[in-house]
Amino acid sequence: MAHYPYLIIGGGMTGAAAAKGIRDYDAGGPIALVSADHEPPYDRPPLSKKLWDGKKRLDEIYVALPDGVDLRLSRRILELDADARRATDDAGAVYTYDNLLLATGGTPRRLPYGGDWVNYYRTLDDYHALRADAAAGARFVVIGGGFIGSEVAAALRKQGNEVTIVFPDKGLSDRVFPSHLAAHLNEYYRDKGVTVLTGEKVVGIEEGQEEAVVLTGSGGRLPADRVVAGIGITPNVDLAQAIGLPVDNGITVDAYLRAARPEIYSAGDAANYPDAVLGERRRVEHADAARAMGRAAGRNMAGANEPYTYLPMFYSDLFDYGYEAVGQVDARLEIVEDWQERYDKGVLYYLRDGRVRGVLTWNIWDKLDEARALIEAGDRHAPEALVGRIRE
Ligand code: NAP
Repeated sequence: MAHYPYLIIGGGMTGAAAAKGIRDYDAGGPIALVSADHEPPYDRPPLSKKLWDGKKRLDEIYVALPDGVDLRLSRRILELDADARRATDDAGAVYTYDNLLLATGGTPRRLPYGGDWVNYYRTLDDYHALRADAAAGARFVVIGGGFIGSEVAAALRKQGNEVTIVFPDKGLSDRVFPSHLAAHLNEYYRDKGVTVLTGEKVVGIEEGQEEAVVLTGSGGRLPADRVVAGIGITPNVDLAQAIGLPVDNGITVDAYLRAARPEIYSAGDAANYPDAVLGERRRVEHADAARAMGRAAGRNMAGANEPYTYLPMFYSDLFDYGYEAVGQVDARLEIVEDWQERYDKGVLYYLRDGRVRGVLTWNIWDKLDEARALIEAGDRHAPEALVGRIRE
């Protein structure tokens, strides 16, 4: 049995950032970081972006950990005793702690069929496996039109593979974009040589010896050498639930990222926190949030006692298009569009009751501080007053 002032469960970007946050306040207190992954912590965005176009090398994606971190890889905490402040991993190792962070992340949703033919793209291992498939020059069917689907389809196509993307919605990323932009993106992907099947549910996968065949609701049969699924993740809340912590679309934490027990914190994909700027609870599944929230949780574990008030951003690359976004970027809100050049350069403002809740800058970079200021001000705006507000 080993005792740690700080125990972090989860070796993703959140857990790694928390170790740094602890070191902001405590130069030497031993930290245990327990990770189910056999790889040390790494950044996830390059797995579907820069590793594919050569803008990042593999050795550049690992996150440097501070000194004094006892990193336990390929270990899963199976049992928590919150009263005794004790955790036990799947190899029987026991850790006692003063402060605990549940940075348990999320697990990809799985299809009830398809077996090993399907790559549920999430980890560095998944990247290596897909890269090996792609190097062979193959036929891919990508299921899901969200972040993973749209980014992985572009990455695979850029390598010269045959790619079909299939999803139930009308357009790529149509939970984020206004419908005409999502429809434009469908056409853009088609121009790049991707077969885009919209409004199609996948209803089964035939697993053959040589190939898989993806079956669609309208009777389509899509032969594939590999299937990739990006159909969302579910937050890993089992440990929290097992010790009776409140869970509601993630582990419920307060403004200090503390769960219902004062010595237990949660952050990243697993945590549901009160967003200070937007004034409502959220669970955010993006890298910037993982880094910032993890760091903030670590600082608070070491005694900083600071509320988490950061409004995180996210970004995506879709062939030659790219965008950055901050706040609530939800296609169900009122959207004011300010295109400098239609589909090539523009800013989208997402409003509720005339107040800006989110901003997306399309092929425009480094404008998110202006966007944050607009959201934080919380003023009401006539739609036309926003046009020209943020420009390149
Ligand atoms: P996602 O962005 O939530 O997209 C999932 C998509 O799959 C949605 O469009 C969903 O449609 C669809 N879907 C759900 N069930 C389906 C089914 N049975 N068949 C076909 N489609 C189905 O999730 P993701 O793309 O899997 O990404 C996983 C996580 O990684 C997310 O947390 C994401 O934020 C993160 N990520 C972020 C980035 C970035 O920030 N650039 C990049 C990659 C990954 P409905 O909308 O109709 O449910």
